Amino acid sequence: MMHCRQNAQTNEKAGVAISFDDHFINEWFALRPIFQKYNAKVTFFVTCPDSLTADEVSKLKTLQSDGHEIGFHGTIHGKSTELIMAGPENYKKIELAPGLSYMAKAGFNPTSYAHPGGNHNDQVDSVLLASGFKILRDVAISRRKIMGFQMYALAPRLMPWIYYDFDSERIVDALLIDEDSGLTEAEMKEALEKAKTDNKALMLFGHEPLYGKPKNGEYGFDVPFLEQILKEADRQKLKFYTMSELADTK
Ligand SMILES: [Zn+2]
Repeated sequence: MMHCRQNAQTNEKAGVAISFDDHFINEWFALRPIFQKYNAKVTFFVTCPDSLTADEVSKLKTLQSDGHEIGFHGTIHGKSTELIMAGPENYKKIELAPGLSYMAKAGFNPTSYAHPGGNHNDQVDSVLLASGFKILRDVAISRRKIMGFQMYALAPRLMPWIYYDFDSERIVDALLIDEDSGLTEAEMKEALEKAKTDNKALMLFGHEPLYGKPKNGEYGFDVPFLEQILKEADRQKLKFYTMSELADTK
């Protein structure tokens, strides 16, 4: 009887791809020392770039020169599925073209896109892919509460769709790490261990860096929680990927 020997399992590509959405440029910039401490590279998905000040542009440039990626998150942070009902040209004219032109004037040429509000459909995706974005990032949530009732809770390690397989997939989901996700450090450690074992990249994202419980409509993640993730990824010798790097890694 012949035994087929399995290829030796390697984990040389195992990593984590963390991104941040919206327009918290100063707050993101303040995380620079933490990123440097763990040699972490991340992606910042910027929305409403028309309102970028010269100071914010210069901060984004510094982050980019540190190795981080500046991605695009829409001109008006609109509902793409509604905008595209009036045709792809309408969607492009309102959500894509003006913002990309502001980004270009500021010196940025984004190659990754995060769907505002996680709202999209196949038609939206095809317009974005045809516009030259290498990778489109959607939203995954591990727990859902409705009117205070827990509807479901999934451990991140049991969510295969938040792991990048290095199969050149261009439409991906990242797990929300904001405070209201209810994720624990133990779950994140397990999720990172799974990336290591399976030689995949765990995809995570958040919004505003917070230093305490969210208040007055704030939405974002706890900075010490992010630091624990970076520290654990570094300890497990995981690679840090930007979103476009995922699509580029064979
Ligand atoms: Zn957003």
